[in-house]
Amino acid sequence: MSPPRAPMSGKAIVQTHFDRAANLISLESYMRRLLLCPFREVTVELPVRMDDGRIEVFTGYRIQHNGARGPCKGGIRYHPEADRDEVLGLATIMTWKTALMDIPFGGAKGGVTVDPKKLSKLELERLTRRFTQRIAIVLGPYRDIPAPDVATNAQVMAWILDEYSSRQGYTPAVVTGKPVALGGSLGREEATGRGVMYVMDSYAHDFGVPLKGGRVVIQGFGNVGSHLARLLDAEAGAKVLAVSDVSGGIYNDKGLDIPGLLTHVGQGRPVSEWAGGKRITNEDLWTIPCDWLVPAALGGVITKEANARTIDCKVVVEGANEPTTPTADLILEERGIALLPDFLANAGGVTVSYYEWAQNLQQYRWTHEQVNRELKATITKAYLTVRDLAKEKAVAFRTAAYGIALQRVADAERLRGN
Ligand code: NAD
Repeated sequence: MSPPRAPMSGKAIVQTHFDRAANLISLESYMRRLLLCPFREVTVELPVRMDDGRIEVFTGYRIQHNGARGPCKGGIRYHPEADRDEVLGLATIMTWKTALMDIPFGGAKGGVTVDPKKLSKLELERLTRRFTQRIAIVLGPYRDIPAPDVATNAQVMAWILDEYSSRQGYTPAVVTGKPVALGGSLGREEATGRGVMYVMDSYAHDFGVPLKGGRVVIQGFGNVGSHLARLLDAEAGAKVLAVSDVSGGIYNDKGLDIPGLLTHVGQGRPVSEWAGGKRITNEDLWTIPCDWLVPAALGGVITKEANARTIDCKVVVEGANEPTTPTADLILEERGIALLPDFLANAGGVTVSYYEWAQNLQQYRWTHEQVNRELKATITKAYLTVRDLAKEKAVAFRTAAYGIALQRVADAERLRGN
């Protein structure tokens, strides 16, 4: 019997996708090296005073992958398994995502290895302030601008703003995804889910997969999953059959009552305890026949070993970052299942973060309608560019999206003299 293989790391996933796209655009070898290596990485130890008086020490990372097209941009996640490798993989994706959206940013990511559920609100605040102090030297509105990611939210961004501004003076543009009252943008909180919906809508229009009345299954009911479910239900007329969170999922073949479920979850209760559907396990979720399957939780969930051969959908829409391993990617392709890749599908968040940053620098506020209109235009334009290259070169959407992004970053590097 052969020994079990270790799951593929975030960095290895990115490298595999990168190689396919670099071959597509015949990228020179020195440029491959330049575009894969991070510009700057910071690892910090974070001593934090806990409520019982003890000091606990956490490890945090901020990795700036590439800043050729503008200041580095990317979220901060708090997760027990966050490590350098994961953060580097996610920082790299941010470079391709901002390039694909054609917004003037590079890519970065941050993470702290911590289980935030085990911290009180005060401990979380002290951790965030300590992390900000230790990485402040590499942050700034024209240097590197964090945003929320897994288990961080507008409140965490407000603490970062406060900590940074206490030393540098009032600097709202140092962070995005802030509360609206502190200079956040209208529409930012729902932006990633909204962007996913716009990409699904464009694909539905081009390839005849129904969205109105279409059957959708979503893994994860946090920021991305819950807003997507709400918008698909209320604006696109889709039928959300099943959703899950870390505690398990629920399923209703007639479509879930999403407003009712949102109220339930808003009271701090897990999805699986809601009475409006049949309780299912997190594994069951992958077996439900549907038109659209949206992983919107963590990375590495669609794998050869677990579910790539059995998933029963027409399109996988990557709401999460890196939910599909490269081997699973090939299996889905062989099976004729289309895939809308993460850095196209979930780019709505960073796109509206760009609008937030621009509003902060201009000291001017856009309406929610303007934000949505601009988001739809930007993400649809990116989708069309990917669709056309995929058709022209007869490659998957992911390879086409990477090809476009790599080309743009490589062009910027060359123009800067590299
Ligand atoms: P979140 O913390 O708000 O929500 C994560 C959700 O996933 C929660 O409902 C959690 O219970 C659930 N979950 C965790 N483990 C699970 C498991 N094993 N099975 C089922 N559900 C599980 O995070 P988020 O901001 O919604 O981010 C989700 C994904 O989308 C991440 O990959 C993130 O990197 C990506 N993303 C987020 C944004 C954004 O703007 N928030 C933007 C782009 C990409």
